[in-house]
Amino acid sequence: MSVTLSAKTVVQDLLDFIDGSPSPFHVIKNIEDWLAEQTQSWERLEESAKWTIQPGGRYYVVRDDSSIILFVQGQKPLIETGFKIIGAHTDSPGLRLKPNAASGSNGLLRLGVEIYGGPILATFTDRDLSIAGRIAYKNDEDHITSSLIKIERPLLRLPNLAIHMNRTVNEDGLKLQKQTELPLILSTLADEQLPAALFSELLQQQSGIEAARILSWDLAVYDTQKGAFWGAENEFYADSQLDNLASCHSALQALLDPSILEPEATLVCSFFDHEEIGSTSNKGADGSFLPDVLERIALATASNLEDFPRALAKSFMISADMAHAYQPSFPNAFDAEHKVFVNKGPVIKVNANNNYSSESISVAMFSDWCKQEDVPYQYYSHRCDLPCGSTIGPLTSAKLGIRSIDVGNPMWAMHSIRESAGVLDHEYMIRVMKRFYSS
Ligand code: ZN
Repeated sequence: MSVTLSAKTVVQDLLDFIDGSPSPFHVIKNIEDWLAEQTQSWERLEESAKWTIQPGGRYYVVRDDSSIILFVQGQKPLIETGFKIIGAHTDSPGLRLKPNAASGSNGLLRLGVEIYGGPILATFTDRDLSIAGRIAYKNDEDHITSSLIKIERPLLRLPNLAIHMNRTVNEDGLKLQKQTELPLILSTLADEQLPAALFSELLQQQSGIEAARILSWDLAVYDTQKGAFWGAENEFYADSQLDNLASCHSALQALLDPSILEPEATLVCSFFDHEEIGSTSNKGADGSFLPDVLERIALATASNLEDFPRALAKSFMISADMAHAYQPSFPNAFDAEHKVFVNKGPVIKVNANNNYSSESISVAMFSDWCKQEDVPYQYYSHRCDLPCGSTIGPLTSAKLGIRSIDVGNPMWAMHSIRESAGVLDHEYMIRVMKRFYSS
């Protein structure tokens, strides 16, 4: 197996993207910065404004700072081409700070956290953690506004208990009591210091916003360790949030590819927050964001109201989310006939109970795009005696009534704070997505 320079370069770009995006808010900010660097100009549309959309125009819409929809308006009418959509999610499971986060005891200040989605909690121990997210505050004009914050250095830690006090940890696994054992150590605390005041002071220093003006926040805990290549040939890579920033990154690479300058069809990338907690929110995949934006594109460009459902009937969505690669230490966790392997190509996920939206026609279409690109592909089916995960594909295809497929690249340790995947697969996925957009 040889890892080409271009495959490594694009994964390095992914790792830089992830390392700069420790919260869903930063994901959107980084995408916006990326768009600003493009030779083609991208226009931000506000949901509260009237939209004017031109064929060939490039636009994006952000909802509440952490979900984004980008689209390139096609040269042909929507009723002829439909929308070609790739969907993914901007959030990852982990820990989120509680509102009254700071508490003190025994000379230590700890920050209380809530569990967001389904992280592997044990992986959060003994890591160089910090915080990032959005702070809401009152500005000089007395308006409520917000600002992003990312504290770049190791700031917090959840130290393990020594094995001398937890003798069966290697037999029983590490079990953390969610209420009492998850608060993260931030600092020592002198008797006269108030925990909340000390934490506010830290936020003031790091954000440049006067503590008295800070009203609330959405702050995530993240791992400050940067992404890395590993393996004898550097054929693997590791980072946090591969699920699902790797899919966002591959879709963006496809959409921004210079070969797709003036597409016939309208091309859409939709990246949602809140997938890890079920997608039901104002900006989640089960909310109104994508239907609203697609309908407005149709209203701004179509000749009558019937055009929108007609366009949906011709549309297709690739729901891209990561897949579970075979791990030889745990052979019994996998269906023997549906093992998928790192560096062996994109995974088509199939589930008869519609936890994945793939069906025979969409699978045939996707596998055909793979063949056209000379990209290998694999099928994943979960063990029948284990509950299967799900993702945004079934929700969005149900909401819009469009044909859809669930795919994703194989990875290890999904929902660990340090996940890993294969270098070749990232480039494979980008190629297939480009083929979809130009098909
Ligand atoms: Zn995911």
